[in-house]
Amino acid sequence: MTKFTHDAEEEESMDSKPTFEEIISKYSRALVLVAHPDDPEFFCGGTVARLAQAGLTVHYLILTSGDKGGDDRSLSNEELAAIRVEEQEKAARHLGVAQVTCLKYPDGFLTPSYEVLRDAVRYIRRFKPDIVLTQDPGALYTRGVSHRDHRAAGLIALDAVFPAARNHRYFPELLQEGLEPHVVRELWICRTTEPDLDVDISAVFDLRTEALLNHKTQIRDPKAFVERMNNYRASQEGPVLERYRRLVLG
Ligand SMILES: [Zn+2]
Repeated sequence: MTKFTHDAEEEESMDSKPTFEEIISKYSRALVLVAHPDDPEFFCGGTVARLAQAGLTVHYLILTSGDKGGDDRSLSNEELAAIRVEEQEKAARHLGVAQVTCLKYPDGFLTPSYEVLRDAVRYIRRFKPDIVLTQDPGALYTRGVSHRDHRAAGLIALDAVFPAARNHRYFPELLQEGLEPHVVRELWICRTTEPDLDVDISAVFDLRTEALLNHKTQIRDPKAFVERMNNYRASQEGPVLERYRRLVLG
């Protein structure tokens, strides 16, 4: 396009914004790095389904086992954690995810410690994702207060991707494990207040709902949940979207 006016320039930059399909056509692996079992489906489940359907290998790295997510006093924290990890595996399989890894840091007290950052970098160097999807480290509140673990997971993901995973001077012990630096191409921040990438999940919306229903400890009334999801879908005038802030790291 020939640029004559300021408006033309603006138009061009709008035109040149790549679509989800164009972006992912260059890539083969995506990692969802979040705090709790059920976060992947709630935060980006439709996108996960679309990535898997497009042929990308999708892995989950979940930093805690969600051992505080439930008020049933007959279950110990350990029992609840074991159930939630199993629920997560079923939900992930439903969306076509290849592998789920749970690091089992304590739920509710996630911090960007040396250990958790090193574990995240280890995973990234091993799996070599092109895209990492994570939670918004800056969102103190959206509709309600955002969970501290979600913010911490976002911060851990950002710090792990840049610069630690790509810089051999971080965690030299990982080099001894044979894990060379890896450059993650893009970070997608879920449920951000500053989205610049829309993913149309209309075609996989029901698949996402079905995947979510595997999180039985988190959904007390499945019938009411499905109704709520269907009402949400019906309330959308256009396509159902999952929206991201996209950081291109090259
Ligand atoms: Zn969560």
